[in-house]
Amino acid sequence: MSTVLQIGAGGVGGVVAHKLARNKQTFSKIILASRNITKCQAIAKNIKEKQLGEIICESVDADDTEALVALIQKHQPKVVINVALPYQNLSIMEACLRTKTHYLDTANYEHPDTAKFEYKEQWAYNDRFKRAGIFGLLGSGFDPGVTNVFCAYAQKHLFDKIRTIDILDCNAGDHGYPFATNFNPEINLREVSANGRYWENGKWIETKPLEIMQTWAYPEIGEKDSYLLYHEELESLVRNIPGLQRIRFFMTFSQSYITHMKCLENVGMLGIKEVEHEGHKIIPIQFLKTLLPDPASLAGRTKGKTNIGCYIIGSKNGHDKTVYIYNVCDHQEAYRDVSAQAISYTTGVPAMIGAKLICQDIWGDMPGVWNMEQLDPDPFMEELNKQGLPWKLIEKVNV
Ligand code: NDP
Repeated sequence: MSTVLQIGAGGVGGVVAHKLARNKQTFSKIILASRNITKCQAIAKNIKEKQLGEIICESVDADDTEALVALIQKHQPKVVINVALPYQNLSIMEACLRTKTHYLDTANYEHPDTAKFEYKEQWAYNDRFKRAGIFGLLGSGFDPGVTNVFCAYAQKHLFDKIRTIDILDCNAGDHGYPFATNFNPEINLREVSANGRYWENGKWIETKPLEIMQTWAYPEIGEKDSYLLYHEELESLVRNIPGLQRIRFFMTFSQSYITHMKCLENVGMLGIKEVEHEGHKIIPIQFLKTLLPDPASLAGRTKGKTNIGCYIIGSKNGHDKTVYIYNVCDHQEAYRDVSAQAISYTTGVPAMIGAKLICQDIWGDMPGVWNMEQLDPDPFMEELNKQGLPWKLIEKVNV
């Protein structure tokens, strides 16, 4: 029975809090803190209405390490779940270090002024986390997160040697708006409008934004145009899957999404540097976020499914083999379960599972900073099936 502190009450935060409340046998006391306490209270009310019990709400500025330390000292959680924004990762890790508390997040650190998508600064905490005897779990969402666990599972059980991995992220959901993003618009648009990158034969190959398109056939959805992006799990998987020859990441976008995004980019609305507007300083992408629908508000109106998985080629017992290991998540079912759409759901459920494995001392007994594929995938895979994200496997062996 553990106390858990969750930071962030957005689309993903709502799911994590619901799922923590559904796992009361592990999380006996749940504290939900965010910049704006009213968002925490709205989630707490929703949870109470579902007869899932009480959670405690707090307000905190997660950029302020002192305030975080005070909050952690007040409640003494076993783990801090960071589902605020990637900008807050380092201040929250610092507070965990000072209070000797386990840490978990779902996205790698980003500096607000530079969209770099790399683990360097978080990996640099490894020695200090080890010395403090605390466990840091990086990227416990779906991608990164479950996709890393799928790769670890494939490596442990399905292959002797993995040659190539394609991580496929398909959202065939329709929210009825001409343009909206499924998670934080600033983080989403920075990711999609950046140069693409993949790894082949020992080196990184950079592409222009959305330059490479491939049509993949997604089980339960059908064929979809998918675009090569750089995605952060590539960086750790290249280090942790030995013998890998190539790894890429593809995500589906509708033509409407791409046309809107290109247009917004062309007029400067995706800019991350301050501009002067009628005597005020504004950051264009933050202003755009104010105009776009709140991702949490897409819940309920989004219909359709997501399919996210890993298409892996390699060999086992001397035979070439292809595997697609994946989850299909239905937006409406996610809404019925926790009042959220599937993108928030597929991120929030794995964050709760990571915290559960830490609180049960299944994953948390190795001090240091870890990516998901470095840990035993089996208990996580079991929990996925129990907590609403069942996985499936298609295997083809060439004999
Ligand atoms: P939202 O923007 O909906 O929510 C972010 C929350 O963090 C809001 O409650 C926000 O408060 C709060 N917050 C922001 N800044 C601070 C601060 N300084 N102090 C305290 N609270 C703060 O984002 P999402 O829920 O969509 O995404 C949450 C995280 O999940 C992000 O890091 C995102 O990158 C990650 N993600 C990971 C995925 C994966 O598969 N691995 C997929 C999708 C998302 P306020 O409302 O006041 O702004």
